[in-house]
Amino acid sequence: MSLLAVEGITVRFGGLVALSDVSLTVAEGTIHGLIGPNGAGKSTLFNVVSRFVQPAAGQVLFDGRELLRLPPHAVGGLGIARTFQNVLLCQRLTVLDNVLTGLHRSLPVSFWGAALRLPAAMRAEEHARARALEALEWVGLRPWAHRRVSELPFGAQKRVELARALVSRPRLLLLDEPAAGLAEGDRRQMAALIARLQRELGTTVVMVEHDLGLVMDLCQEVTVLDFGRVIAQGPPAAVRRDPTVIAAYIGR
Ligand code: ADP
Ligand code: MG
Repeated sequence: MSLLAVEGITVRFGGLVALSDVSLTVAEGTIHGLIGPNGAGKSTLFNVVSRFVQPAAGQVLFDGRELLRLPPHAVGGLGIARTFQNVLLCQRLTVLDNVLTGLHRSLPVSFWGAALRLPAAMRAEEHARARALEALEWVGLRPWAHRRVSELPFGAQKRVELARALVSRPRLLLLDEPAAGLAEGDRRQMAALIARLQRELGTTVVMVEHDLGLVMDLCQEVTVLDFGRVIAQGPPAAVRRDPTVIAAYIGR
C-alpha cells in the first residue's frame, strides 16, 4: 500500500490555477522525485500535504487517513516533516535550538510544566536535546551544535534544516530543493544523506529538485509537473526520455 496518495488536487490562488487535478502515489520506503519548471506548482503541492494551503478540490491520504480533514497542526504528530526551498532557520539561535524547534510541537510537554521546571517536563527536555544531538550527529554537524546558525556556511545550514526535519523521526519527509545553491562537495554530501535516510532509517521521501542528475540517481519514481498539471510519471529512466518532458524543459 502507498504511504501517501494525492488524489485530484486542485489549488487556486485567485484567478491562478497553481495545481490542476494532480494525483500521485508514493510507496512506503521509496524516494519520489517531483520535478518541473519554475512555477509548475511543486512547492504548492508540498504546502498542501503539510497543510499550509487548503486545496479547492481533491484529497490526500496518508497511511490511509484523510489528511485534509485533520487540523493543520496535527500533521507533524502523524509523522510528516518537511524542509523549505529557502533556508528557514533562525540565524541568531544556536544550531541545537533550531533543531529543537522541529520537535517541540510533537512533545507532550505543557507550557506550564516547562515554565515551572516540573520533573517530567525537565526529563522531556533532556530527551529532546539528546534526540536533537543525535539528528545533528547524523548530518555530521554534532561539533557545531552550540554555534549560531549564522556562523555556518550555507551548505551546512541546509544540513541543519535536514536535521530539524529528521529530529521528529518522520515516516514521510518532504524535501524542497535540498541541493539548491550547493557547491559540488556539499551536493554530494546531501545526496549521500538522502540515500542513507532511505537505506538506514527506511524513511519515505518526496523530493523537489532541479538537479536532474540527483533525481535520476536517488529516486525510484518521478512525477513531472508543468503549469500545475502532471505531464509524466514513472521510473526516472522512462521519464527522462519522455518527449513531453524534454519539451517542457528545453522547449521554452
Ligand atoms: P514551483 O515550486 O514549482 O516553482 P510554486 O508551487 O511555488 O511553483 O508556485 C506555483 C504557482 O503558484 C506560481 O505561479 C506561484 O507564483 C503561485 N503561488 C504559489 N504560492 C502562492 C500564494 N501563496 N499566493 C499566490 N500565488 C502563489
Ligand atoms: Mg518551489
